[in-house]
Amino acid sequence: SYLVDYKDYLYYPKILHIKNGGVPFYVNMHACPISYGGTQAVVVAVTDITEMMEKDAQLVQAAKMKTLGEMSAGIAHEINQPLNTIKMGSEYLTLLLEQKKTISDDQIRDMATAISEQVDRATEIINNLRAFGRKSGLTMERVSLAEPIQGVLSIIGRQFTIQRIAIRLELDDNLPQVKGHNNRLQQVFFNLLNNARDAIQEKMESDPELYGDILVRTYSENGKVVVLISDNGVGIPDDVRNKIFEPFFTTKQTGKGMGLGLAITYGIVRDYGGTIRIESKSGEGTTFYLTFSAVD
Ligand code: ADP
Repeated sequence: SYLVDYKDYLYYPKILHIKNGGVPFYVNMHACPISYGGTQAVVVAVTDITEMMEKDAQLVQAAKMKTLGEMSAGIAHEINQPLNTIKMGSEYLTLLLEQKKTISDDQIRDMATAISEQVDRATEIINNLRAFGRKSGLTMERVSLAEPIQGVLSIIGRQFTIQRIAIRLELDDNLPQVKGHNNRLQQVFFNLLNNARDAIQEKMESDPELYGDILVRTYSENGKVVVLISDNGVGIPDDVRNKIFEPFFTTKQTGKGMGLGLAITYGIVRDYGGTIRIESKSGEGTTFYLTFSAVD
């Protein structure tokens, strides 16, 4: 006979170990004290979860690539904008040259600056895309949440505007950092913003006059960092509410929803020790609150 003392039960998730040859692997470790035939002992169970974590990462990657595919129209639009400005600037210069017109140094400087700014803008969009597409490593970094938020907006912002959806940003300039990965957090905001957009578009079907409104706000309270994403879409009915984090649960038509967005979002946020809370009113809109511990 043996007794388990649950209050001394220990659980260490995802600890990094190194094999003899220097190969890293991850384990979950459980330890609990037992008394066995009158002797005190400790049972330690160690499970290698490296393969599971790799599968997880592959799933996240697959979903990310799908999102990127869906977003390609918007991305093309984002990059076209700076290209158009550059094209117009260079055509104007050629025209001046052909007409043998002189322009002042100041005018040349202004144009050169404008062109250079547009090149920077296009480069920034491409860098954000690269960062988003890259698979993230397993170790965590310190992240300022404004970075992944701005990164995602640089990719999808214009597309939302075209669809008559405004995104209001209220980012706290003094927000403490959190632990995580920039590009996995981009995936989180991508998913939440896409869902907000879909909910608004669904409502637009019955209310064509509707102006979409999404608020993204960050703030800190009591050592926590909070991101709030609020939309004025269809809302989540009560009977759907407790299913939305399940993998493959979707209310969207086939081909549109995979039902993985929130399952992945939940997995990532939980990995970083964070929590997700939802407030929603059917027909009026939804607010997601993500809470993370601040690192000092
Ligand atoms: P998908 O977007 O592919 O359906 P998700 O896991 O991201 O998968 O979302 C699951 C379901 O949760 C959606 O189909 C939708 O019914 C609901 N949902 C998620 N976010 C919102 C939102 N902001 N407003 C209304 N419903 C939402």
